[in-house]
Amino acid sequence: MTTDELRESLLMNPKNGLTQISAEDRAEMEAYCKRYMAFMDACKTEREATAWAVAKAESLGYKPFQPGMAIQPGDKIYYNNRGKAIALAVIGTKSLAEGVNVCAAHVDSPRMDLKPNPLYEDGEIAYFKTHYYGGIKKYQWPTIPLALHGVVYRKDGSVITITIGEDDSDPILMVSDLLPHLAADQMQKTMAKGIAGEQLNVILGTEPLDGEGSDLVKLNIMKLLNEKYGLIESDFQSAELTVVPAGRCREVGLDRSLLAAYGHDDRVCAYAELEALFAIDNPAKTAVCILADKEEIGSIGISGMKSQYFEHFVGGLCDAQGVKLFDCFANSFCLSADVSNAFDPSFPEVSDKRNNSLLNYGVAICKYTGSRGKGGASDASAEAMGHVRTTLNNAGVIWQLATLGKVDQGGGGTVAADMANRNIVTVDAGVPVLSMHAPIELVAKLDCYETMKACKAIYNA
Ligand code: MN
Ligand code: MN
Repeated sequence: MTTDELRESLLMNPKNGLTQISAEDRAEMEAYCKRYMAFMDACKTEREATAWAVAKAESLGYKPFQPGMAIQPGDKIYYNNRGKAIALAVIGTKSLAEGVNVCAAHVDSPRMDLKPNPLYEDGEIAYFKTHYYGGIKKYQWPTIPLALHGVVYRKDGSVITITIGEDDSDPILMVSDLLPHLAADQMQKTMAKGIAGEQLNVILGTEPLDGEGSDLVKLNIMKLLNEKYGLIESDFQSAELTVVPAGRCREVGLDRSLLAAYGHDDRVCAYAELEALFAIDNPAKTAVCILADKEEIGSIGISGMKSQYFEHFVGGLCDAQGVKLFDCFANSFCLSADVSNAFDPSFPEVSDKRNNSLLNYGVAICKYTGSRGKGGASDASAEAMGHVRTTLNNAGVIWQLATLGKVDQGGGGTVAADMANRNIVTVDAGVPVLSMHAPIELVAKLDCYETMKACKAIYNA
């Protein structure tokens, strides 16, 4: 054999997916990404993503989960976890005792949440105080267009939904930064400290009411909120309002191969899972799609992946077949669908290039995440990796391997450990992202599309 033949038969030879994809697949990829962009424009918070998923599922015949309900193969069921997370299932022809195929993503993203007592005035400017949510580089959030999203539980018990800053006719909100002329001291600080958490104050307005007394700008803002939404200041005590980057998902690059949006992490995988699930009618094993909340702050709490709402849902389905939940979990598989860090040629020093995901090389399979000696990781077994490898290869999915940065550079986690701790075989996989956790993140269209195909393959496995 020649060395060329040996190289071909013995060595890995990864190729850019855009050179591998068929013309037909490329057209489907573009159509898929158009739908994904519309989803991203509609969904910037876990509540909005959950509401979107509920509405879409109901339009496709999904029924809400009821404890004690009877189930048949082909039934489509969803569990709306208090409007902040959702699990959906398509019942398979096999018994739940043989396990379920799960794809689990999260729909919360880093942002700035309003404090419980947020509204104040200083220097005749009205502001909201915020507490950032998730891992952000605080210096990235001043001087960009911002929008307010969320819900308020009013004094009379009614709940209203608020979105300000997304319609072109809306005002936007903003956090200020110091002019460079006077930033001599600030510029000496580390990037971690250049903007402090207590400086992430969101500007609401500057016009005082005509009258006597203090805080007339704040009073004017409260008056505007009262006129439009019927709010009084104490209503903030029972609100979930969050400040996110304003604006739409956009194509990026002269070749339009990338997409820029707030919160690709992890709605890019959430959407992939949903589309894949909605394309399935009669799987062999029951297919379960999870859009979880609170991943960015540790998956804790009632809507996070550690919550037993998942047991309530799958356990309820098992009860309908007289199957023990433990037996179902023991035979289940989970693709923990979450983003990875795409290799960034401007910052090569943080990655092991041979083991880092690349833009346009397809869905990135991550054996382990974690940090400092795999700490906190769900380290997938050879068997689990083999299952994914075979399943994706058989389905013609373009995929690659990934690790989260070079050894001892940092690290992170996903819901993988929460699923594996339930005795469910779990592997991490997702879309490579540039500028992860920045207000605007970048992904490649090809990787979005291949991730959807990967979810479909897992549901059908
Ligand atoms: Mn994530
Ligand atoms: Mn994240």
